[in-house]
Parts: sequence; structure tokens; C-alpha cells
Amino acid sequence: MAPFLELDGLTKRFDGTTAAEDVSLALERGGILALLGPSGSGKTTTLRMLAGFERPDAGRVRVDGEDVTPLAPERRRFGMVFQHYALFPHLDVGANIAFGLEALGWSRDDTERRVRESLAQVDLAGMERRRIAQLSGGQQQRVALARALAPEPRVLLLDEPLSNLDPALRERTRDELRNVIRRVGITTVLVTHEQEEAFDLADRVAVLRLGRVQQVDTPDALYAAPATPFVARFVGRSSSMTVNVIGEQGDRVEVRLENTTWDLRRDEVAAEVTPGPALLLARPEALWLTAPGGRSLAGTVADRRFLGASALFTVRTAGGALLEVSAPPHAVEVGATVGILPSRRSGGGIHLFPPEAEQ
Ligand code: ATP
Repeated sequence: MAPFLELDGLTKRFDGTTAAEDVSLALERGGILALLGPSGSGKTTTLRMLAGFERPDAGRVRVDGEDVTPLAPERRRFGMVFQHYALFPHLDVGANIAFGLEALGWSRDDTERRVRESLAQVDLAGMERRRIAQLSGGQQQRVALARALAPEPRVLLLDEPLSNLDPALRERTRDELRNVIRRVGITTVLVTHEQEEAFDLADRVAVLRLGRVQQVDTPDALYAAPATPFVARFVGRSSSMTVNVIGEQGDRVEVRLENTTWDLRRDEVAAEVTPGPALLLARPEALWLTAPGGRSLAGTVADRRFLGASALFTVRTAGGALLEVSAPPHAVEVGATVGILPSRRSGGGIHLFPPEAEQ
């Protein structure tokens, strides 16, 4: 069966800059997809092409089998919440929501009913006559959401929906937003540069870099099996060093790291790795601090960052690599000589990539 929402090869160039390159993504009905990436990775451009504000140089957008690429934004039946909400400050809450419905030719009665319903959907029942300026940032965000949902759009688009809020409000508003979009069950695409936001709100996340989709997966799969070194670093923490792959032995891969040899599980290793130089990326919790010697990688603790239940230790290896290791807060002192071993408990978190995968 064809997906409900399909972005097929969307490409956009602005004199010399490729903002989006061959972006292909698909969503089932009711799916929630986050576009996650650093500044300039093409998230907004992709969302704008999806919404119809930007004409793609190539590619199509399909909804429920219909090609909407040539359609103007208002004819796509999408709802959108902008970063700054774009509410009319001089109109009350009800009028803000009614505005779009009246423009679509809804009758007065239907408009009133729908304004009431959509305010209830975002837990703002009875707030019709409140002035926008009297609302908190979180409430304004919910009015913007109610306004986007009121015309019963096919798809909801959210552009950095929480970036306008201060950190204290952000988490609570995120919970509310999460509840509303799941309760309504609407197919949603959201743009964010915050991993936590993407993981919390979306069931699938597309990681973008330089206009290209690097990986699309569930949050769990992105964390456990990053497809590229970029994803390994951008989603969660990873530190890296250059190693030498010696070869495979059954389900193990032998790897030479400076003064020692580790054997890693085959399923932790990117498939295309062959003997020779490789890039090893490790999650902090995938490494163990131990006494120097044996099969451990020798190093000196260069830094410690206290995180509460654990601390993040930065270890400088004899060869000059910097590896981050998660351990109990008082495991070792800065300056101590330590050894590092792959943690057997974490069941993953160490990945090998071909050296050129970094580009
Ligand atoms: P941010 O998080 O900073 O909003 P983003 O991931 O949304 O970033 P885009 O805004 O899509 O990224 O930009 C992608 C690239 O395209 C950037 O290099 C940007 O400078 C360029 N770009 C975007 N819009 C235009 C435009 N209208 N004219 C020229 N260049 C543009």
C-alpha cells in the first residue's frame, strides 16, 4: 500500500547552495515524523516545500495518492504551526481560530462549533473570548495548534514548535503537544534541531545534514544503529578514534587500537568494514573505565563532568585520541592513569565505519 504522505526526491537549490537534495520520506496515516538536523541542514526548506511555500526544483509531494506538488499552500489542506505562532494579537482566541474557517466558507454555526471543539482538543475549552496578550507562551502555542487543527487538515506541519518558549515551559508544553497530536491521531511532520524534542514527539526521525537525509528510523534504532558517523555524533554522544581492523573470527571482529586489541561483536560493526584503517565511534556508556593493563586501552583522565547519577570522563589515550566514558561520579580522579575496555553490559554502542564515512 502506498504511504499516506510521500516526499519523493525533493530538491531545492538557492544560487549555488543546495538546501535540499533528493529528500525522500514516507509516512503512514497518523505517523509522526521529525526532521532533525543542525542549522542549515535543510529542515525548513524541506518543510516549506512540503507546505507549498517553496517550489521544488525537482521531486513531488503526494498525499493519499494525490500529487499536490502544483497546489498552492491553502489548497493542500495542511495545518501549520509556525515558530512564532503568527497569531493576530488584536483578535481574541476564538476569532483567531475562526478566521481560517470563515476564509474557507464555513457557516457561522459550523465555525462556532468547530472553534469550541478545537479549543477542547488542546485543553483550552471556554477560552474563546480571552485576548492573545493575556495568554502564557504555552497557551499561545496551543491556540496556534487549535487554529491549525480547526479546518481538519490532512497533515499537520510544525516548525520548531517549542523554540519560542523558555526552557522551564518547554518541557511541559512538549508533553501537552505530544498528547494532543497523539490523541487527534493526525499525520504530523515537525522540524526541530533538538534531539530530545524529536525523540519525544515523533515515532520516526529523519536526520538531515547538508540537505541530505542521512537516516530515517525510530529513535531507538537511530541511537542503537547509526548509519553514519554524523548520526552517531548528532544523536546522543559519541567519541571517535582511528583504529585498524585485523579481521573477522566467527561473530567477532578483531580491532587493533594503539597498544591493544579488542574483539567486538560482528553485529556492532557497520557491514562494509574490511580489514585496514577504520573509524571507531563509541557511546560513553559502551566503554568501561578499568585499571591499566591487560586488554585495556591506556590513557589519562583529562576531564570529568558531573551529571548527577554518573559522570562523563574524558580520557586522552597514549596516541592522543579523546574518548568519553560514562562511569560512577567518583570512579577516578582527573589526572589518573586508566584503562578502557568495551563494556559488555550495554549490548552495543560501539560502531566501526570506513575511514571515508566521515565526509
Ligand atoms: P535552521 O535550523 O537554521 O533553520 P535549516 O536546517 O532549517 O536551518 P534551511 O533553512 O532549510 O536549514 O537552509 C538550508 C540551506 O539553504 C542553508 O545553507 C541556507 O542558508 C540556504 N537557504 C535557505 N533558504 C534560502 C533562501 N531563501 N535563499 C538562499 N539560501 C537559502
